[in-house]
Amino acid sequence: MVVRMRHTRAHTANRRSHHALTEKALNKCECGAMRVSHRACPNCGRYNGRVAVDLVARKQARIQKRAGAKKGAVGNKSEVK
Ligand SMILES: [Zn+2]
Repeated sequence: MVVRMRHTRAHTANRRSHHALTEKALNKCECGAMRVSHRACPNCGRYNGRVAVDLVARKQARIQKRAGAKKGAVGNKSEVK
């Protein structure tokens, strides 16, 4: 919608009445960390009682990727996924 005319203060306030931010729904994980509901835990990778994200493997991959990036500066994109 294109705003063409000057708005009254009430008009502006009415529009901004929908701009409030909502608080994220946080739950406590089995490991004790707070996590966003319907998302895997960023601390342990669990979701609904089982490990959904293998954080150990992910960290290893990140370390390997960094080590590879330091060796070859440019043109090693094909070997690292
Ligand atoms: Zn957790």
